[in-house]
Amino acid sequence: MTQASSPSSTGRTLADLAAIDIDRLEKASAKKKDALRSIGISSVLDLLWCYPRRYIDRTRQADLRDLALGDEAVVLGVVTAVSSRRTRQGKAMVELTVNDGTGQMSVVFFNQAWRAKQLTVGTEALFFGTLKPYRGATQMSSPVVDVLVGMEGKIQGTQKTGRIIPVYPQSAKSGLSSFEIGTYVAEALRRAGALCDPLDEAMRDEFELLERTLAVRDIHAPETMDDITPARRRLAFDELFRLQLAVQLRRRVLERDAVSIRHEVDPDEVGSEGSLPTSLVGRFLAGLPFPLTAAQGRVLREIFVDMAGPLPMHRLLQGDVGSGKTVVALTAMLGAVQGGHQGALMAPTEVLAEQHLRSLRVLLEGLVLPDERRLGGERHVEIRLLTSSTSAPERRATLEGLATGEIDLVVGTHALLTDAVSFASLGLAVVDEQHRFGVEQRAQLRAKGRRDGEGGDPDLLVMTATPIPRSAAMVLFGDLEMSVLDELPPGRTPIETRWARSELEALSAFARVREEVAAGRQAYVVCPLVEGSDRVVASSAVEEARRLSEEELAGLRVGLLHGQMKAAEKDDVMTRFRAGELDVLVATTVIEVGVDVPNATVMLIEDAARFGIAQLHQLRGRVGRGSAKSFCFLLGDATSHEATTRLEALEASTDGFALAEVDLDLRGEGTIMGSRQKGRSDLALAKLSRDHELLALARELALKITDEDPDLTAHRELAEELRVTLDEEDAAFLFKG
Ligand code: ADP
Ligand code: MG
Repeated sequence: MTQASSPSSTGRTLADLAAIDIDRLEKASAKKKDALRSIGISSVLDLLWCYPRRYIDRTRQADLRDLALGDEAVVLGVVTAVSSRRTRQGKAMVELTVNDGTGQMSVVFFNQAWRAKQLTVGTEALFFGTLKPYRGATQMSSPVVDVLVGMEGKIQGTQKTGRIIPVYPQSAKSGLSSFEIGTYVAEALRRAGALCDPLDEAMRDEFELLERTLAVRDIHAPETMDDITPARRRLAFDELFRLQLAVQLRRRVLERDAVSIRHEVDPDEVGSEGSLPTSLVGRFLAGLPFPLTAAQGRVLREIFVDMAGPLPMHRLLQGDVGSGKTVVALTAMLGAVQGGHQGALMAPTEVLAEQHLRSLRVLLEGLVLPDERRLGGERHVEIRLLTSSTSAPERRATLEGLATGEIDLVVGTHALLTDAVSFASLGLAVVDEQHRFGVEQRAQLRAKGRRDGEGGDPDLLVMTATPIPRSAAMVLFGDLEMSVLDELPPGRTPIETRWARSELEALSAFARVREEVAAGRQAYVVCPLVEGSDRVVASSAVEEARRLSEEELAGLRVGLLHGQMKAAEKDDVMTRFRAGELDVLVATTVIEVGVDVPNATVMLIEDAARFGIAQLHQLRGRVGRGSAKSFCFLLGDATSHEATTRLEALEASTDGFALAEVDLDLRGEGTIMGSRQKGRSDLALAKLSRDHELLALARELALKITDEDPDLTAHRELAEELRVTLDEEDAAFLFKG
């Protein structure tokens, strides 16, 4: 390959490729073009970004002749016979004979009747599975299948020329074979010619990255297996780099027109016990019934350094369930209050907002601050709740108090973002939620800090209730500084978790509930996850609570909590449970976050396989809050291999960060990133659980470029790539004006 200093700056850009409709493909029929569109491929760029799932190295491919029983093998063969029937148990069974030119085997599928239509005689496909003996023959049962050439393709020969065959993802629904996709990709590659590379040679050398045209060619049509890794590395880098670039740009935009409030906080005050505290923060910390953990102290100092600093804080606080985030958040808010500003805490649900208010009130008890209206006088810290169920008169009073500054702290839901809410001086906004706080909402919050151009931007602290692996956090929250509470307060007893797989084990789990109740403690039972509207969820919870109190929990005092109950009803149930007037709380996932009753020592989760790892971990975190030993029982069968892995992971670990890694590995990035990342900003090749090093490089380069060129004016190709790949909301935010 020739290596000029900037060899490809003239080639086609991603925008060029995105502008070429697949209509222009000569090798694809109109029907196939529709099929491509149905799987989201409508431009040449989409096509080139449809990467092979794996490759077959024909030189090293196993022949049936050479394989032994018990071998796990990949067999490339042609279907020579197909039959369908029902087994004696009534399962649909499809049996194939597959011949690879050196021998033959039988392949069977159960309950996959559609295989008979997919794998017709003459179909060439790959079969991944274990060879087992069956009635004197060699058999693979339910192998993984990749169809290379279907009968419909009827293309002979071409597939055999290359030594390495790319296998493309395919769905039975679209009716596109791997071979067909490969053919279209080959045409696109050939006709696209050279591609523009936004990374110049110096950057590529520094990061050991392949040139783009080469990378795209080698990922689709490698000459040797060794070509694949460098190609994948380059293209995965590009994916991560674009995301990091977007994240860093977003941060520059926020910083560009930021007006910081320099809070009157002193990081050194945290952890300096002994000296007589005079500040509000100092007195609050000195009055806590417990010393801060080392992690809490460290994180608070990080927060105070930001709050006192010249730029508004954008910080993410991560901490496992029970690690003590609330105390940290409250101390930070008091840091704002002591300088005459206000603090707001926004929670995702009403239940959680109410819970937060309650815990904050307990922590604030007895704390006073100087009353400016009465010389030498003192007053309490004023805190209020604001949600959509707040009564009209209360709401009016709260809005007024916030506007005049008489109220110091407010806890609420998204209701806090509405126009009616204005602050005298919002100094710190704490957002407690699991999902990404949208760009739009951040702007809304920021606007609350400024009035008629006066005032400054509130500092922002985002708390996540679910730990996120560091790599994923760098992508999702890369524009936030990160603080981690990696230590639990002392005196907790670990939660023993057991997956009760059988009826018998489930019975003994309920027996444990009775034992704990007999010993004066309490339990939660989480209802099975049902699909449907909130009403459906609620009515099934009502039904389950009724059933349980007649059967497994007969004779116990059983309460019910679900999302459709009125605020007062919820309040009432929670108050009675906290007071010990109820033994068991049957609930939907509304208890997932925030509920804090130290006397509850058993958590029983019905049909646990339907919940995700993070959710199970959150639910489990409702127990183990006191000094008594706690138990968590996961009930029900696993419905898939993945579910088994999830439940076993929960049995094995109570470390939220370790579980988050398992989750990332199981589910991949797509689900963690949620609906926000879609289409072209997806990570197709990069894998966050594996590509740590590449992610760090991408971040480094993104920082370097945005440091020197915060608007990307000198990097027009990069700016253009972002426009092509980002979703509209992000692109509009980054490139407005
Ligand atoms: P998180 O919000 O991180 O799940 P919380 O803030 O609700 O955790 O804290 C869980 C419990 O631990 C609360 O009852 C809280 O009062 C208590 N707690 C917090 N920090 C400490 C500490 N340093 N020492 C002892 N207990 C603590
Ligand atoms: Mg500041």
